[in-house]
Amino acid sequence: MSSSNAHISGPPSDLAGAILTVDLDAIQENWKRLAAKAAPAECGAAVKGNAYGLGVEQVAAALWAAGCRTFFVARPMEGGELRAILPREAVIYVLDGLFPGQAEFYAREDLRPALITIEEAREWAAFGTQYGRNLPCAIHVDTGINRLGFSGAAFEALLGDNEIMARLNLALLMSHLACADEPNHPLNGRQKAAFAAVRRRLPGVPASLANSSGIFLGAEYTHDLVRPGIALYGGNPIAPESNPMLPVAHLQGTVLQLREIQAGESVGYGATWRATRPTRIAILGAGYKDGVPRSLSSRATNGPAQVYIGDRRCPVIGRISMDMMAVDVTQVPVDLCRRGTRAELIGRNIAIDETAEWAGTISYELLTRLGQRFTRLYSGGESHFSKAKALTS
Ligand SMILES: *Cc1c(COP(=O)(O)O)cnc(C)c1O
Repeated sequence: MSSSNAHISGPPSDLAGAILTVDLDAIQENWKRLAAKAAPAECGAAVKGNAYGLGVEQVAAALWAAGCRTFFVARPMEGGELRAILPREAVIYVLDGLFPGQAEFYAREDLRPALITIEEAREWAAFGTQYGRNLPCAIHVDTGINRLGFSGAAFEALLGDNEIMARLNLALLMSHLACADEPNHPLNGRQKAAFAAVRRRLPGVPASLANSSGIFLGAEYTHDLVRPGIALYGGNPIAPESNPMLPVAHLQGTVLQLREIQAGESVGYGATWRATRPTRIAILGAGYKDGVPRSLSSRATNGPAQVYIGDRRCPVIGRISMDMMAVDVTQVPVDLCRRGTRAELIGRNIAIDETAEWAGTISYELLTRLGQRFTRLYSGGESHFSKAKALTS
């Protein structure tokens, strides 16, 4: 990855205070690793939430170029945006399901609703009849997470309604795991068994259960199609084991100022951090407006959080403010940390899962909350981007 061949959108990088570089080559490699792991199951991709905050336009095009053909979004509008990016052959499922009156939009954009109630199934079936063709959809069955999907009883009611069933083009039977990131959690086995029972009621319909972590639960969880999200974007699907995925999001802040302070002096709002020795500190131009969680502020519990500057990790000190944060760089050789030096907040040296843990959250939230103020660079982006565009036109 280098920023010289990066596709630059937004302000020029020499004016950037903070930079988010999305490594599209790494996303493609991660997709290939997951596809190999899940094979012979097909490997799709969850690109909801603007591809977990990383930019669906570039990410989806890169995934398409890598060979991904099935995509999952949450909202109908996300499906519409994705359709404008991807060729017509791309299969797009909308996880929110189908609200009354939305069927025409789904049909026009060639989106497949993941149906979650019998009313939705009835609407989609009726729309198909009116349209002159039974349009494909997924049936989303809840097997224990108690989030979206048909309950057991509602699923039986659907199966018993011949009028609806005869007019549904069932392309996928899906369910979602609650505890896939905890391999020993008993709910995994219970959901696997419940899903097997559901599948026996609709033999021959392709099935999908696994998210990123689910792929690593073993071959009994991968069925016909897997739906990774976070692992594509570099999150560790098998934590606390070492991460089999490549880092994707590289977050950098610029050193705005350096200062030497004496023992007893404090740093930042609230004077929460106090030097116990002469300390060299760097002020970085990245703050909570950029999506650096304020909960990364130095504290005694699971911190201090760290950033990477020059050749080492440095502790965050004091409070994260809107546009800035302070770091203790006493140990960094002076010539490796000057005004203008880029500090790594997330990337090769500081894993996204590590930062998430310091902030008391998960990689998903950290990514999806990254601010718009970062200058966004996409490395490896242009060729993949143009490939998908060429196929669309
Ligand atoms: C978000 C989502 C996924 C992807 O989950 P990850 O944990 O990010 O891999 C898969 N399936 C459904 C239904 C989802 O909502």
